Amino acid sequence: MTDVLIVGEGLAACVTMHVLNNRNLTFKCIGHPNQSSCSRVAAGLWNPIVFKRMTESWMAHVLIPEMKRFYADAEKRMGTRFLYEMPIVRALPNQEAQKSWNIKSVNALAEWIQAADGLPDDAWKFTSAFPCRGYVNQTGYLDVNAFINATLKFYAACYQNEIFKYPQLTIHAHSIEYAGLKSKYIIFCEGYRVSENPFFNWIPLKPVKGELITLESETLTFTNAILNSNGFLIPQTNGEYTLGATYTWDFNDEAPSLEGYQALKEKAESMVKTPFKLKAPRGGIRPASSDRRPIIGRHPVYEPLLVCNGLGAKGVMLAPFILKQLFEHITQSLWLDDAVAIKRFYKKYSG
Ligand SMILES: Cc1cc2nc3c(=O)[nH]c(=O)nc-3n(C[C@H](O)[C@H](O)[C@H](O)COP(=O)(O)OP(=O)(O)OC[C@H]3O[C@@H](n4cnc5c(N)ncnc54)[C@H](O)[C@@H]3O)c2cc1C
Repeated sequence: MTDVLIVGEGLAACVTMHVLNNRNLTFKCIGHPNQSSCSRVAAGLWNPIVFKRMTESWMAHVLIPEMKRFYADAEKRMGTRFLYEMPIVRALPNQEAQKSWNIKSVNALAEWIQAADGLPDDAWKFTSAFPCRGYVNQTGYLDVNAFINATLKFYAACYQNEIFKYPQLTIHAHSIEYAGLKSKYIIFCEGYRVSENPFFNWIPLKPVKGELITLESETLTFTNAILNSNGFLIPQTNGEYTLGATYTWDFNDEAPSLEGYQALKEKAESMVKTPFKLKAPRGGIRPASSDRRPIIGRHPVYEPLLVCNGLGAKGVMLAPFILKQLFEHITQSLWLDDAVAIKRFYKKYSG
């Protein structure tokens, strides 16, 4: 009997594998890539600042140290690089915004942001969007594809590439059985496809489609910062850039669309003043929850059934902390933060 059977093979499932391994818990994983592309297309950014309100992102001071520790440890364990720390250069529309940024950089947000004066200008000289700018520190991106590929390879002996079939699940009081596998717990990390899961289809998701594109330019050469104005531009290790992202609440599928392409092209034109080409558009559906917080914990009736969902647009930053908390809660009865616990939605479950 294993401790945990994981369903899914996206970011949440892969983070779960490392969290379980760190706690010496055994696991198997059943996942199929065709059900959701979300993690595979993600830009992988983490950012402690909500630019719209110029406030600290929820729990950033806890989430960021934990995520850095977690991914650095996974890099070391698997001998692969996927975490790239670099500042965000944020475009500001006018002198007033610049002044307010500079004030926050020495009080409320001093831990995270700084005034641009005197800082290297490599990335900034390529953009035409706005006259002013500020820097965000302790940011960067996770190469999510590299992290998933490395994780599935590292734990290949525990992984089965197939679609999970719900009717084959038998639930006992303190364990489950699935196609000959016995496990104490099963955790569903299915992204937006949880809507098809008969045990958790009641959790309130508000999925958001997102699209990204690759930008190629011979004259664009910055490698050490992420540009952000009405979109973001992230330098990749192969000399290309990831440009994103769109947010669409009304959609039929996760495939890249003409409207998405147009919106990304406009972002590129407003951000980059050198000639460029756009290629490889891609789309995915973010599993956002109705209150924009993750959803983790036990099923209200079937104790061995667990879920991790609602990672929305911030899975990279959220997953390591909340999954560690979930398994501390399950195995040691430690506290589970009310803001992320599935308990807050139990009243929506009607049996
Ligand atoms: C365009 C875009 C840009 C983004 N940029 C960022 C970013 O910069 N930073 C950030 O933190 N986040 C970003 N995100 C969000 C991020 O991708 C998500 O928070 C995260 O990937 C969600 O991971 P997940 O594992 O919960 O879900 P998913 O990625 O949807 O993974 C679910 C997995 O389970 C599999 N699956 C589902 N059902 C079954 C089944 N029945 N049987 C077998 N397998 C199954 C699916 O195929 C998939 O592999 C972005 C998302 C998009 C779409």
